[in-house]
Amino acid sequence: MAISDPKMQDLRDMLASPPVESNDPKSIDFRKMLSNLKREAREKSKVAQCLYCNGGYTSFCNSHSIPEFVLRSIASSGMVFTTNALMKIPSLEKESGIKNTGVFRLICNQCDSDLFADYEDPFNYEKEPTGQMLAQIALKNTMKKLSKAQLVLEMQKAIWQQHNISNHITRYANESTLHEIAEVDVREYKKDFDIVKRAVKKRSDSEYRLFYFEKLDYVVPVAFQDSIRPYCDFESNVINNIIKINTRVSELHICIFPLKRSSVVFVFGENDKRTKKYRKFIKQFMKLNPDDKLATICYLSFRYSEDIYIHKNIDQSVIEDESLSRIAGMEDTCKFLPSTPRSKINAKMLEGHALSQRKEIPNLLLPKYAIVQTIQD
Ligand SMILES: [Zn+2]
Repeated sequence: MAISDPKMQDLRDMLASPPVESNDPKSIDFRKMLSNLKREAREKSKVAQCLYCNGGYTSFCNSHSIPEFVLRSIASSGMVFTTNALMKIPSLEKESGIKNTGVFRLICNQCDSDLFADYEDPFNYEKEPTGQMLAQIALKNTMKKLSKAQLVLEMQKAIWQQHNISNHITRYANESTLHEIAEVDVREYKKDFDIVKRAVKKRSDSEYRLFYFEKLDYVVPVAFQDSIRPYCDFESNVINNIIKINTRVSELHICIFPLKRSSVVFVFGENDKRTKKYRKFIKQFMKLNPDDKLATICYLSFRYSEDIYIHKNIDQSVIEDESLSRIAGMEDTCKFLPSTPRSKINAKMLEGHALSQRKEIPNLLLPKYAIVQTIQD
């Protein structure tokens, strides 16, 4: 598997000296430039056929990386906060309309409505999700990763061609290395997609295994669905050495779904030998008390993904929380100069991914942060 899993804001680092104030005219220019780059990259990364059924279509479905009914539970006037509400990077949006949140286009309308019907039905969360629902979620997560990897590749090419950033970037890598990383990502996620597609087609309940499931009787203020590769476990044993290229990495899938009056939180993975490496991690996790399990899930979501969405009326102290902002902004990979000794890299990686950091951030899955329901029906 690839060594990178870039959060989109990493791309900002590739552009020289972004302005700091959001109302600065330069910042507006910068935002425009970034959005133009994104649009261009999106055009170039467009697929000609539905990735699932291989049908050629002129119009593709806007697939949601997280079901709309989940986002609706935490939306106010149709809007949610992105993680940039915490990080406050002037060049990125801090809120998003739920219709456009986490949208990507890889499959046709027919496939989208056939494939995800079970998992996108809120009534199916009265009890634990079935193995088939887990496979559908895994497929969606893989598609999103693939779509993002394609976009990152095209954006890297565009940025490299259009902007004089070589001095800034060659401190860490050269152009071909960066492209190689992005290309490996695209290739690996395509392979992953084929594997998950087969699992979905089988309609078997035994391809994925639910490690943890909790139904909470309140509505949590965050919505999340993604797959992650935790770097280390609770005892600082490395699980996924992300420096290694070209070995397929099994991922852990995490869902935080606020519903109308309750929430479900669950973690699952593939049901085969590839998830063996998570056995210790899961064992350590299952020994935690219920609140600490939720704290771990909250931490992992913010630490490893940018696709976590937040209720806009959340307490201001959360938005201003420096630790949460720092964790949300941390990159998956650490940048090192070529001369950095191996031992120093390992120590830094362990420090940057330490699970003990879960105790430094607000545990947004506890009842004290629950959304107070005002609408009665
Ligand atoms: Zn299709």
